Amino acid sequence: MIRTGIGLDTHRFEAGRPLILGGVRIEHDRGLAGHSDADVLTHAVIDALLGAAGEGDIGEHFPDSDPRYAGVDSIELLRTVVARLAERGAQIVNVDATVIMERPKLGAHKRALRASLASALRIGEPAVNVKATTGEGMGFVGRGEGVAALAVATLEMGSGAHA
Ligand SMILES: [Zn+2]
Repeated sequence: MIRTGIGLDTHRFEAGRPLILGGVRIEHDRGLAGHSDADVLTHAVIDALLGAAGEGDIGEHFPDSDPRYAGVDSIELLRTVVARLAERGAQIVNVDATVIMERPKLGAHKRALRASLASALRIGEPAVNVKATTGEGMGFVGRGEGVAALAVATLEMGSGAHA
């Protein structure tokens, strides 16, 4: 049985924080605000996986009211979700994601983001795709106020998995 999930996340830019996307630190004069490391791309991927598995959303699994997740490395949260899916007999077929951000340009970093996510997802890089686009100067992304990320994940549920 094949199942698909979608994830969407947004975070505000904030001075004095590192910019982390897909577990990769990107040089920029600002980072993203959040309870965790605010890795907007990894959060979208987590929600896509949880969605495909019918397992709710990231906030239910890792509530931002929980001090355990203050400043947490979101790639570790992703690894936790991947392990949980594996326990349920779910195999990740592919993940596709788009980062919507005005600056910095992501072109030079896309391969590193893909490699980082593929490692955490425990699948080959060809099964992970990271795209980048801008807000064309419109809205909160276009004004450089924040970043949005979208992700889609496809799972193949094993015979041992409950639907
Ligand atoms: Zn988030």
